[in-house]
Amino acid sequence: MAARRFSRQREQIYQAVCAAKTHPSAQMVYDDLKKDLPKLSLGTVYRNLHQMAEEGTLVELDGPVARFDAITVPHTHIQCERCGGVRDVDLPYDPELDRMAERAGGWTVHGHSLMFCGICPACAGEST
Ligand SMILES: [Zn+2]
Ligand SMILES: [Zn+2]
Repeated sequence: MAARRFSRQREQIYQAVCAAKTHPSAQMVYDDLKKDLPKLSLGTVYRNLHQMAEEGTLVELDGPVARFDAITVPHTHIQCERCGGVRDVDLPYDPELDRMAERAGGWTVHGHSLMFCGICPACAGEST
């Protein structure tokens, strides 16, 4: 098991997520790596990404297609409604939102993640 956990493939999958600033989906990681790793299958990429998300090495972002982020501290995202691209938004974490959620629902809140939606600069450029 230990040998599998730190397999070369897995390391390359992890590095691909780190290198991409786009919060890639399994398909995007697979497309990125298959030229170097012809034996790689989409299923293997999927399995490794899920495993790393469960261990906390990566964060899995919910959406129509699961996307993966190498930055595991809470931060804010924005998703393009046209191309589906996900980027980080440089906003400070707002602990007041956590307190507001606690007051609203009676929960003990440990944190939140935000996902904005809109049109990315590239798609906005296309439409004009
Ligand atoms: Zn876009
Ligand atoms: Zn992110």
